[in-house]
Amino acid sequence: MSIKAPKGTKDILPNEITNWQHIEKVANEVFSRANVKEIRTPIFEDTDLFERGVGDTTDIVNKEMYTFIKSDRSLTLRPENTAGVVRAYLEHGFHRESPPVKLWYKGPMFRYERPQAGRQRQFHQIGVEMFGVQDASADAECIMLATEFLKGLGLNDLVVEINSLGCNVCRKEYKENLKKAIAPFLDGLCEDCKSRYEKNPLRILDCKNETCNKLFEEYNLKEAVSGINLCDECSTHYDKLKSYLDALNIKYEENTFLVRGLDYYTKTVFEIKSNSLGSQNAVCGGGRYDGLVETLGGVHTPAVGWAMGVERLNALIPQVEQDKLDFFVVSDNQLEAFKLLVQLRKNGFSAELDYNSRKFAKQLEKASKIAKYAVIIGEDELKNNYYTIKDLSNATQERKTFEELIKINK
Ligand code: ATP
Ligand code: MG
Repeated sequence: MSIKAPKGTKDILPNEITNWQHIEKVANEVFSRANVKEIRTPIFEDTDLFERGVGDTTDIVNKEMYTFIKSDRSLTLRPENTAGVVRAYLEHGFHRESPPVKLWYKGPMFRYERPQAGRQRQFHQIGVEMFGVQDASADAECIMLATEFLKGLGLNDLVVEINSLGCNVCRKEYKENLKKAIAPFLDGLCEDCKSRYEKNPLRILDCKNETCNKLFEEYNLKEAVSGINLCDECSTHYDKLKSYLDALNIKYEENTFLVRGLDYYTKTVFEIKSNSLGSQNAVCGGGRYDGLVETLGGVHTPAVGWAMGVERLNALIPQVEQDKLDFFVVSDNQLEAFKLLVQLRKNGFSAELDYNSRKFAKQLEKASKIAKYAVIIGEDELKNNYYTIKDLSNATQERKTFEELIKINK
């Protein structure tokens, strides 16, 4: 039996890679302009990092981690990259630099989830983290980096949803109200929600189970518990964020039920959604996580960040055309063809030839599919020391010397 890629993983094939390279290039440009530096952390980390960092009441840690033991050490393929970035931030003393420290990353993440459209077990994220700024300007900058990146990809019409989860103080009362509102139909909820009810009731609002969602509607859960009653500090922060977003002309919708699936968020949370992605419609999720650096052993450091799903982004942008090669060398003299090929590449052109010395017609047919120009080296060309250049877009031919050839416009 032939071996296939594991369930929930996908090969990214050469005809798809242009889109990926385009997305990464735009990310690099947009983030560099904003002084955000790239960081690459390991794909696996100590399991403990995610248990402490992501939180042991989350689905990610409870059900979705790829964990393995090597020499008595428990390691886990990263399910997300914020914890890894915070670990690196502390390990390399970034916390001693003058804030803000602004970092971005790209790469594969691993979660043992049920594969479906827009949901894989190995998927890719691009993310931004910003450390050291308490003011809501950092939240606004983060959201702006996401919308600028999306704009750079031609995506202007995605919906930014924001909410504030407050702090431990203002969340406490909300949790109690939420529990009271849920109690009458708790028995009908999924097992996950039942355990969330005690450990982290807020996350019940993020449940994707249909039965649960129907019950929320039946019992008017959203009306029963309107948003969190924010304390002064949290509400000032939230108002400030909104005024920054208004000033920056970033459109947003307030969604008082936006909670996010991770435990570490405080104050601001946000998601960016598309109406054309079906049920897995969130492209980007993020928020403020002022407690995480401390949880992972550092001093209290305010921080805010987000992650975007590259597969979902890719589904929204049009196919980026692959560039054609500059030259295809057509000849029945393999040696001369090879010599020219090397010279062309040395001069910065992309060039290819036919390795099997097939008939000229066959070579030209291939050339017209993959290159802009064919360079023909036949008997007469060799004898009289010139090349015939065929412009494959309009089939016009010209004689050129090598010097003229390398002056051609790409
Ligand atoms: P979702 O609610 O869709 O499960 P999430 O809240 O788990 O998302 P985050 O952990 O915040 O998502 O990740 C940010 C983004 O990464 C998501 O908005 C989504 O675009 C993408 N993403 C998350 N999980 C997957 C997955 N299994 N496959 C593909 N993309 C994913
Ligand atoms: Mg998820």
